[in-house]
Amino acid sequence: MSSVKNQPKITVGIMDRQTKVFGRLDGNFRRDGAGVISGRFSAKTEAEAIVLTNEANHEICRSTSIRLTGQEGSAFSLFNVTIGDRFHWERTEDQTFHGNLILVVRKGGTIAVINEISVEDYLTSVISSEMSGEAPVEFLKTQAILSRSWLLAALARKKKKNERFTPVSKTAKKDEEVVRWYDWEDHELFDVCADDHCQRYQGITKIVSEHAEEAVRETRGIVITHHDEICDARYSKACGGITDDFGTAWDDKRVPYLTSVSDASFPHRPITTEEEASAWILSNPEAYCRTKDERLLEKILPDFDRETKGFFRWKVEYSRTELEEILRKKSGFDFGTLQEILPLRRGPSGRIFRLRIVGSKRNMVVGKELEIRRWLSRSHLYSSAFIVKIEGERFIFHGAGWGHGVGLCQIGAAVMAIRGFSAEEILNHYFRGVEIKKIY
Ligand SMILES: [Zn+2]
Ligand SMILES: [Zn+2]
Repeated sequence: MSSVKNQPKITVGIMDRQTKVFGRLDGNFRRDGAGVISGRFSAKTEAEAIVLTNEANHEICRSTSIRLTGQEGSAFSLFNVTIGDRFHWERTEDQTFHGNLILVVRKGGTIAVINEISVEDYLTSVISSEMSGEAPVEFLKTQAILSRSWLLAALARKKKKNERFTPVSKTAKKDEEVVRWYDWEDHELFDVCADDHCQRYQGITKIVSEHAEEAVRETRGIVITHHDEICDARYSKACGGITDDFGTAWDDKRVPYLTSVSDASFPHRPITTEEEASAWILSNPEAYCRTKDERLLEKILPDFDRETKGFFRWKVEYSRTELEEILRKKSGFDFGTLQEILPLRRGPSGRIFRLRIVGSKRNMVVGKELEIRRWLSRSHLYSSAFIVKIEGERFIFHGAGWGHGVGLCQIGAAVMAIRGFSAEEILNHYFRGVEIKKIY
């Protein structure tokens, strides 16, 4: 990997499958091969082409793809952009962006609205709208380097194309088995979407937090690399004391910098047996992510609420009939009377990635960690690092950690930052054997 002189640009899908688009161009925008455009505009499709009109309702152009290049100091707004898609808090708002505006027609005559922007401007928006400016500065810098690495690694992977990840499911004949994992998938018309699927991006709509902006500026062009390749930097909310290996959550391959580490200043022994898992989960070991500091948590987790306080060690309880109903609904299989829940394989953090569920009608193996969390909860269990105790008609889950536990532990990293560790030290703690490099 050689350093690049200029920072790359990326394309972000802001709205998709629209029949009509309304917005405003503030400042001058140039259309390829045509003059300057500004002011209110609208776009709709006619016979598989996009028709762009100005505020006087005059047609400006008609094409399958329209690119408007923003001139110095310009911005554009889009009206009624849906945010929080698919979540209970879905709503629409007007959003404003720097950079270029691209409209592309899809098959079937709908429009994809795309923002082309420099990587650093994109990161400034993502970090400052996701993270409170009051979060520790070294934590914000860590997060900026992580997001940049994830993004540039994804772009590099997209260029290679052949290495595309897709969800995998397989079924063994002898024994009923559902083992799936979900990884990041490419978008066809743009590099990343503006939603949680990639990283939440709202342009310059939300007031940019000064500290977050500073964290991005001070880490400009800095990424983590391994053997001269930009790392596919993963993170989750709280590991529970030990982080896990890549293969517990995704593909069965070893990623050298995504391997288990003790999330403390001293080693914790990786979990290898059920006895160790039980002792680990029922204990309250010293770890960076063992914190109850609500003010810190509110600053670093945008979706933090009081209910999610017990993430380091947690407990969930169901009656047998309740869990049978959840399982039937979430897995699509009727297990009959639920008899046993048996962990078959765990990663070093205690996260289960193969679990046997035994009922009167069915006996199945489920994996990997996310699928297990989905099957055993109306939404998701915090993690798959759990033990199950059956007491009469009650199924009691004791668990550790929040999320897949691979890569950086966000809560642990924030605590490290407060204790005086630098971004570089934090990254070297979670990602072993990496180099921190400035590539532009
Ligand atoms: Zn996406
Ligand atoms: Zn942790």
